[in-house]
Amino acid sequence: MRIKWDEIPASGLLFSIDDGSWIPGKEVECQGPGMCTVSLIKKGERVFLTGSLRLPVVLECDRCLDSFAYNLAEEFEVFFELLAKEDAAASGSDHFCKGSELDVVYLAEPSIDIFSVLAQQMYLAVPEKRLCSDKCLGLCAECGANLNRRPCDCAVGVSTSPFNVLAKLKIQ
Ligand SMILES: [Zn+2]
Ligand SMILES: [Zn+2]
Repeated sequence: MRIKWDEIPASGLLFSIDDGSWIPGKEVECQGPGMCTVSLIKKGERVFLTGSLRLPVVLECDRCLDSFAYNLAEEFEVFFELLAKEDAAASGSDHFCKGSELDVVYLAEPSIDIFSVLAQQMYLAVPEKRLCSDKCLGLCAECGANLNRRPCDCAVGVSTSPFNVLAKLKIQ
C-alpha cells in the first residue's frame, strides 16, 4: 500500500487498517488482524505521519518457553523527507534513519509504503524481555520441568546451584 505525496490533500489523510493485510510473514504469530490508524499531513517539504498500532500476538516466554498472549501497542510519529536528487541516484532505496527524538525517513521517491512502516513499528513494539508473568518460575535446571505447572521431583539440594544453597540457608 503506497501513498503518493500528491494524493495527500492539504487537510491531510486519515485512515484505519483493520484487515491485517499489512502483517509481514510469520515471524510474529498474530491472533487477529489488529487495528492500525495512520494520519498523513504535509508540512512544507516533509510529510508527517502519526499512527497507532494494536495487535494481539502470541509470544514465547524467555523463562519457561510457554506461549502467552500479548497485546502489542505502539504510538508513533515519523517525518518523511525526500533525498536530494544526487543522493537518490546513488542509493536507489529508502533510507531509514533514527533521529534523536523523531524518526526521519529519507525517501528516494515521493511515496510512502504504509505497510512497511506498520511492519517496522510492529517489530519495535515487541518487548525485548518476554515473560508470561513477572512471577514466572521458569524451567527446572535439572529436569527441564515447567515449574509454573508443578514442582518437580528434583529435590532442592541435589542441585549444586548456588541459588539453591542460598534458598536452603534461608529456610533453615
Ligand atoms: Zn514463563
Ligand atoms: Zn526438576
